[in-house]
Amino acid sequence: MKAQTPLLKQYFQTKDAYPGVLVAMRVGDFYEFYGEDAETASAALEITLTGREDGSNGRVSMAGVPYHSVERYLARLVQQGHKVALCDQVEDPKLAKGLVKREVTRVLSAGTVMDDSMLDASANNFLAAVCMIEGRAGLALLDPTTGEFLVTEVEGSCDKLLQEIARWRPSELLYSPEEKELGESAARSLGVTGTEGARPSLDRAERSLLRHFAVRNLQGFGVDGQSGVVTAASMVLEYARSHGLELSHVDTITPYSLDGVMKLDPATRRSLELTQNILDGTRRYTLIEVLDETVTAMGARLLRRWLEQPLLDREVIERRHEAVGRLIEHAMVRGDLRDALKDVRDVERLTSRAASGLASPRDLASLRDSLLALPVLDDSLRKVALGRLHDLRAQGADHGELARHLEHALVKDPPHVLREGGVVKPGFDRELDALRELGKSGKSYIAALEKTEREATGIDRLKVGYNSVFGYYLEVGNANTHKVPEHYIRKQTLANAERYITAELKEHESAVLGAEEKAVALETDIFTRLRSRVAENASALLQTARAIAELDALVSLAECAQKRQYVRPEITDDDVLELEDARHPVVEAHTPLFVPNDVALGDTRLVVLTGPNMSGKSTYLRQTALIVLMAQVGSFVPAAKCRIGLCDRIFTRVGAKDELATGQSTFMVEMVESANILNNATERSLVILDEVGRGTSTFDGLAIAWAMVEHLSRGRVKTLFATHYHQLNALAEQVVGVANFRVSVEEVGDHVVWTHKVLPGGTDRSYGVQVARMAGVPRRVLERAAEILAELERDPALPSIGPGLTGVQMTLFDSAPSAVEEEIKRLDLDSLTPVQALMKLEELKRRL
Ligand code: ATP
Repeated sequence: MKAQTPLLKQYFQTKDAYPGVLVAMRVGDFYEFYGEDAETASAALEITLTGREDGSNGRVSMAGVPYHSVERYLARLVQQGHKVALCDQVEDPKLAKGLVKREVTRVLSAGTVMDDSMLDASANNFLAAVCMIEGRAGLALLDPTTGEFLVTEVEGSCDKLLQEIARWRPSELLYSPEEKELGESAARSLGVTGTEGARPSLDRAERSLLRHFAVRNLQGFGVDGQSGVVTAASMVLEYARSHGLELSHVDTITPYSLDGVMKLDPATRRSLELTQNILDGTRRYTLIEVLDETVTAMGARLLRRWLEQPLLDREVIERRHEAVGRLIEHAMVRGDLRDALKDVRDVERLTSRAASGLASPRDLASLRDSLLALPVLDDSLRKVALGRLHDLRAQGADHGELARHLEHALVKDPPHVLREGGVVKPGFDRELDALRELGKSGKSYIAALEKTEREATGIDRLKVGYNSVFGYYLEVGNANTHKVPEHYIRKQTLANAERYITAELKEHESAVLGAEEKAVALETDIFTRLRSRVAENASALLQTARAIAELDALVSLAECAQKRQYVRPEITDDDVLELEDARHPVVEAHTPLFVPNDVALGDTRLVVLTGPNMSGKSTYLRQTALIVLMAQVGSFVPAAKCRIGLCDRIFTRVGAKDELATGQSTFMVEMVESANILNNATERSLVILDEVGRGTSTFDGLAIAWAMVEHLSRGRVKTLFATHYHQLNALAEQVVGVANFRVSVEEVGDHVVWTHKVLPGGTDRSYGVQVARMAGVPRRVLERAAEILAELERDPALPSIGPGLTGVQMTLFDSAPSAVEEEIKRLDLDSLTPVQALMKLEELKRRL
């Protein structure tokens, strides 16, 4: 681009300094994009693409958005994975000689946004970095909006690392060119913004962390010697800083161990629909939607995190159960706590914004109101403070002094921006009061001037006005200009009037404007000091915020438990899972008459569950998994009685039907997931298998399902196995620990009634034709289906069903296998890792 105008030169120079970033430059009342960026922004934001002369007889594309609604547009760009640099005017255009000086004041990317308008209040916004050194991967997760900084080391396979990244669902993932392949594929599969950046040397990384935390060595953080972790940690910090974030509130690194939480692979998370449903990714019909009774955004975020990482430590789990129980018992106190929590805003994000130098006057007012509400909260908490609730109370610090200071300093409802003042309360600062008084008296002089000048000149229609070019003026209609006194200085001629100024008017004007300008400058100064004071208290504030979040999450669990009649699960060291009258937490919320069912896994290790379509097999399986998960999160559970030995992992493999939405409805994915289960499930795991083997031909499917049941029961893995293959019922006779259950139906004439009741014993009918009838399949088709069924039941070899069906089958099976089919046949599944399998699958799909 050979841009010639000074503005365009300035733009494209800035652009060169920020490769891969869209530059939005403030020009007048707009933020403008030029050249390719204009084209990108116009398409992404659906705004008009125009052009302007480039100063060398050519044109350059241009698109702009109004400055006052820029946040909205930025949010959309960032959501779509773009990075945007805001290039602002850094000097007053009125005072600028020549082109206004502009500088990039912030770079926004998915992982570094701080404004509420661009964030989901109920989710963390992690910026993650991975760094693989000598086969060990460091993973660092920084949420600049809350100050949390977590790191862990992942040994072994890439799968494990991918799983861990998936668990946190970061908004942006950083990786160095060394991890490009891994980083890109992780970002793609998780649908997050991927950003490649240079990897610092270990030495430089260490120095950057030491400097940030102002410590002499990293031993205190427990990350000493973990090269990958240290490097990844420095990558996120430096990246956030290069995006204009001050991170003084990030005052510690928290290493965590992967062994402390239940392992849930991405497929299991997806199919259990913990925080996102499979169909459209929203939280409708998810577990979080049912459990979330939180009042604060902090509590909502924490509860969601709890659901995503159930615990393995019995003591911690039971402390949560105990706290929930206590809050259920003390219903009045719980009500008071919820009322008090309603007055608490997002202290975690408000504090983080203050510490990053980005909090607005309104932010500090929200913080003030929240801090003022704390004594009431504490008063209620005191009444139930035992166990974990006692610890939380102790964790909250006393912020009375800061609250009072903010109360004295800030007006009740300050504006969002500082630009026009009106933020600091009268009486807080004498100098400010004096300046305001001066401004006010000057203004009232000017307001009174109209009257005095009318009287002095005898011009009835004389008016006082203001414009930005020459300030205050006196306007006289043409009919009266002959009456204008000599000391009036003419400034502007309009069609039917003249505008004048006087020396006296200008004197007062400069007093007014000077005082107002000074007052705003002073307010800015006072406000910045207030914000720094908050920043100095950031550690204590964040500690309190986290205690509030946990309290809110526990109160929420109690509220939900009482509302939905959940019971406290009994955690035992025995390797059992016993549920009486258990319900599916989500389905029951949408089903008027939900039928509860029992589960008993202990001596029985594997249940083969058969039953007609639509009878409730999947529901039964999933509710069992969800109840175990809820219990280990610390929640009460939807059952009449529940006794659980802790599970180290929950695995689910659900039928291909449920994955149509993700475009992965293939036998291959089914087998990759099954392989993962067969290789990794232990006695302590819970495995949910729904319709395995459905994605292939009947006999292959049956054979695979059969072998899987044998394998899992040999390993004593607690398993619920729902299947259409009634033949599997024979296994109960042959293998110890296998039992048959069925979802019963009642036949009334030739109709069936679904009872949704799970009973001991197998079944040998599918009722598929009845389901088809309920779905409205035409009668002639149903009659033909019934005919074929009768034939098949007599002789499964299909000899005499008629030419139609066999004809179709012949053509299907006779055609020569395609190259892709051949390749699938040749694949050695045992030697593929799940990731390789997925990559292969992607390649095959492309070729198709
Ligand atoms: P398919 O074999 O066709 O996949 P399924 O046996 O797995 O079906 P589900 O999908 O679990 O059946 O349930 C079908 C519907 O039946 C659910 O959407 C729900 O509305 C209802 N249902 C399931 N279980 C119960 C229950 N215990 N009480 C009341 N309604 C239930």
